[in-house]
Amino acid sequence: MEGKTWVVLLLVVLLLIVSVDTNRRLQTQGSSGVFRSKNFTITYENIPALTVRRLAEGMESAYQKLVVQHGFREGSRSWSWKWEGDVTAKSPYCDRSIAAHEYFHSIQLLGYSLKLADRFLIEGTAMWAMREVFPRDVECYIHLLGDWLVGGTDVGSLKLLYRGHQAGLFWNFISDRYGGAQLIRQVFEHPDIRLGIDWPKVLSQLTGKAFLDLWAEFAVALAARQVPDAKWLYPRAEQKTPYVPVPVFVGEWTGQSLTIEQSNWENPYPKLPRTNKWEVGAPLTVLHPYGIHFLRIVPSSESPFILRFQGDPDTDFRVHIVAQKLSGAYEISPLIRECVIARPLDYILFQIVVTRGENGSGRYQLSLQKPQTTDFLLCHAVTAQQ
Ligand SMILES: [Zn+2]
Repeated sequence: MEGKTWVVLLLVVLLLIVSVDTNRRLQTQGSSGVFRSKNFTITYENIPALTVRRLAEGMESAYQKLVVQHGFREGSRSWSWKWEGDVTAKSPYCDRSIAAHEYFHSIQLLGYSLKLADRFLIEGTAMWAMREVFPRDVECYIHLLGDWLVGGTDVGSLKLLYRGHQAGLFWNFISDRYGGAQLIRQVFEHPDIRLGIDWPKVLSQLTGKAFLDLWAEFAVALAARQVPDAKWLYPRAEQKTPYVPVPVFVGEWTGQSLTIEQSNWENPYPKLPRTNKWEVGAPLTVLHPYGIHFLRIVPSSESPFILRFQGDPDTDFRVHIVAQKLSGAYEISPLIRECVIARPLDYILFQIVVTRGENGSGRYQLSLQKPQTTDFLLCHAVTAQQ
């Protein structure tokens, strides 16, 4: 090639680089205007063009999936978005998930007039919607769900059913197990919801199960790593705390009688203020309705043991044994009052999962003892393999 051709080629390449770079900067710099997609009009201020397109894409996808496919009522088609400050450094990766979340809020309010104050339902199902529309954008919502595993579920002054985004994991679980998107839609459409009747009662009617039993299923799934997105959630949590989900008690079956009356494991989650932690040495008490306690017992003796639960008679407890076999598989059985683990060394770990209803003090204790007779019920005779 001649020298002149080289110069021309070089100039063309340089021009291309400059124009791509200029284009990229224009895409990521704040701008203002009106953007129209098929179903939405977005009035925007100080938002990069690329982001506006991602927001529109998120709402169009949410509209398609939730309204057209699943039959939810419509939300708002007209949006005003305004961003503050320097927006050039923001990653646009989660913008479409965020838009799907916000669009679902407009469905809740315009389509169904749901009570805004009920954050567990409002924020929890908006988190569910994000995952439903963009299931692969795990990084956009997973960090808001991990409190179940590392934060403890019975701490803080805020009752569990008043909490917000973290509730997404419960709704993901319940929709996976009981009818998918249609269950969520049926909750919204239920006439009792508009009468102000609590969603737990509605959920109970729709599934045919007592709410406390549904709740216990969720608690057990947390212990058995059977909640949605477990393969992302648990490794993240294990970077923060050694035992996941975080227990109130850690102990061992050595063949000697063991009575467990106090917490011996402090919640290490650094974000929780001191006053909100449960104290080591405090009597075992599930403080709040629907709080969940996990107790861990590792077997080191082959002696059988009776596992006995004694709780405040005024408290409606649900107690389950989640036993992990050497293969890693889980065996799950209810613990009504007492039962026998006949071959402890068939298991790596026992987790006792305790939750409760609205009334009573939540006080309880557990004991492990050698059986004196053989006429006890085996714990896993009534196992529901999951
Ligand atoms: Zn929200």
